[in-house]
This record gives sequence, C-alpha cells and structure tokens, in this order.
Amino acid sequence: MLEAIRIVLVNTTHTGNIGSTARAMKTMGLSSLYLVGPKTAPDGKSSALAAGAGDVLGKATIVDTLEEAIGDCGLVIGTSMRTKTLSWPMLSTRETAAKLNTEVQHHPVALVFGRESNGLSNDELRMCHFHTFIEANPDYSSLNLAAAVQTFCYEIRMDYLATERANIQAQIENEYPLAHDLARFYVHLESTLEKTRFIRKSHPGLVMEKLKRLFNRARPEALELNILRGILASIDKQHQKLVTLEQSDNDEQTKDSVTQK
Ligand code: SAH
Repeated sequence: MLEAIRIVLVNTTHTGNIGSTARAMKTMGLSSLYLVGPKTAPDGKSSALAAGAGDVLGKATIVDTLEEAIGDCGLVIGTSMRTKTLSWPMLSTRETAAKLNTEVQHHPVALVFGRESNGLSNDELRMCHFHTFIEANPDYSSLNLAAAVQTFCYEIRMDYLATERANIQAQIENEYPLAHDLARFYVHLESTLEKTRFIRKSHPGLVMEKLKRLFNRARPEALELNILRGILASIDKQHQKLVTLEQSDNDEQTKDSVTQK
C-alpha cells in the first residue's frame, strides 16, 4: 500500500533534490514518484544523491502538468509552508499520513510538493482537497524540499506500521478465548469431573484451583479450548450412556425380584 502513495514534485529546479527525494521515499517504503515539468530532467547528480534508490528514480513518471500527475487520484494533499494565504481545510502531518494510508486502499492518492524558490502557486493549491504543513520553527519554517518529503514519508510509515501492528494484535486477540468462555469451560470441567467422581462434591479439595492455574499458564487458544470442550462433551455423553445402562439393569433386577416373589 505504501508503494501506491504518489509523491509529486512540481517544477523542481535542483536535480539533486529529485535524487534525495527518491532516497527519502525508498527509506520509508514509498516508490511512486511523479515529476511535473522538472527544470532539468534527472541527471548524474540525481543518481548520486538517490544512492541506493536508483530504482525509484529510474521509474519516476515525468509529466507536463499537475493535472496529469493527479488526474486519476481520489485524494490530493498539497504541502505548503505558507498556511495563511488561502483558507483551506488543513491537516497536520499525522492526519495527512493517516488519510493517505486509509484512502490509498480505495483509489490512488497524491502528496504534492512545490518549487524550491516559491512553493506551490495558489492555483495549484486550489487543486488539492487538503493542505498540510510541517509545524517547524515559526521564525524559519522552510525545509529543504527533500527534507520535507522525508518528514512526510516518515509520518506515513509510522502510521502504516502502527495500523499494521494494531491489526496483528487484533488477530492475536481474536485467537484467544474471552474470560467468560474460560469460566464456562471451568464450570463444564468441574461438572464432568464430578460425574466421573474424580472430584467429590462433598470434598472438592484443590483440584479445580490447580487445574485453573495449569490452564491459565498454558493459555489455550480459542480453537484449543473448543477441543477441550469437545472432549468434555464426549465424556459426558459416554457417562450418560453408562448411567442409562445401569438404570435399565437396575430396572431388570427389580422386575426379576418382583416375579420371583
Ligand atoms: N520558499 C518556498 C518554500 C519552498 S520549500 C515558499 O515560499 O513556499 C519547497 C517545498 O518543500 C514546499 O513547496 C513544500 O512542498 C515543502 N516544504 C518546505 N517546508 C515545508 C513545511 N514547513 N511544511 C510543509 N511543506 C514544506
């Protein structure tokens, strides 16, 4: 999903910045780079600064206009250090990351960066659904282009990893039985052990407490607990059969003794 988040650079002047952007993206797992009318096409300086991210640089898409770069995107967020020129829906860097990660699951999304000299024009900013800025030092908030890309890509990665971890955690939690399932299992276990007379109701002792400790230590998964419940149910069934058999034997004996009389 990270690979589908598009980073768009508009009219970049320094080819080194294009290379550094590719590197900033790759270190954070992003790889879709669009260059809108770069002043100079990526060159040796770009490659040198891209270092190990030559692949991201190599497959960058070069287009003439911002419209072409974002045409198929369902969400476009523009970055700007100037926050007050347009009143537009604003997102923090973290909200930007979360929104990009969520929406990229449904359609292409883009994060747009401006020129080194004067950022994005108001017309370009108006093509974006949201604006975002890095809350840097108010006395000097203009980051180098690639450093700004790095900051956003880092936030995107952090948000992505947090969601991934939360999903894994949720999966793990689903695999374990809930406390009340475990409590029901203990009630079932105790009743079965009473039926088989392993535990005597009059003298229960500490067996159940020790078994609970054992099961808590082993922490059975939901599936394993189902197997244990299944085993108890099969014992209950056999026990019921024996009880019925004994009952009919007793009935027979009573009948015999009645006839003998
Ligand atoms: N002097 C320019 C700043 C350009 S910096 C101006 O007045 O706009 C180049 C690009 O880096 C910006 O267009 C923006 O995309 C990004 N950038 C730099 N600092 C930023 C910040 N604090 N928040 C968000 N983006 C920033």
